[in-house]
Amino acid sequence: MSKPVLCIIDVQPKFDAAARIVAQTIALVAKFRRSGFPIFLVEYFGYGRSHDSLCKAVSGYGPLYRVIKDLNDGSDEVISVAKINNVSLDRIVICGVNTCYCVCETATGIIKKIPCVIQPAKAALACGCAKFAPSTNCMADLIVRISMADRARKERELEQQRVGQQ
Ligand SMILES: [Zn+2]
Repeated sequence: MSKPVLCIIDVQPKFDAAARIVAQTIALVAKFRRSGFPIFLVEYFGYGRSHDSLCKAVSGYGPLYRVIKDLNDGSDEVISVAKINNVSLDRIVICGVNTCYCVCETATGIIKKIPCVIQPAKAALACGCAKFAPSTNCMADLIVRISMADRARKERELEQQRVGQQ
């Protein structure tokens, strides 16, 4: 089994929900640092740096990869940074904000493009959508969407194999 990668999405002060999970994100960073596993710090272009305490927690870490994305879906950027640095994305632990938007779009974007296992880190995920839809279960929705995207990729791969065999 390859090393898990921690993928931190948009824990930037300009996103309200980020403040709720900074401490939990830093706890995950500490865990990954102890094991020497890679950390991807993903930030939305134009929204400033990640929270100061998080920047401090990752500073000086060797296998830290900063990724700047300019859309909700940062999958292309994460995949290309991983490729350039020869980091395997077989196993991804994902956290950050907002669960229903950037986290979900990046996670489903990655799993649609490459075979991998994506595990949402529940304690370090937050979402601002509660304001508009208090009954939404962002976490459950995220898990369903990841598994749907994974199934879609697998079906496409099978289809390509069938076409290849004809
Ligand atoms: Zn949400």
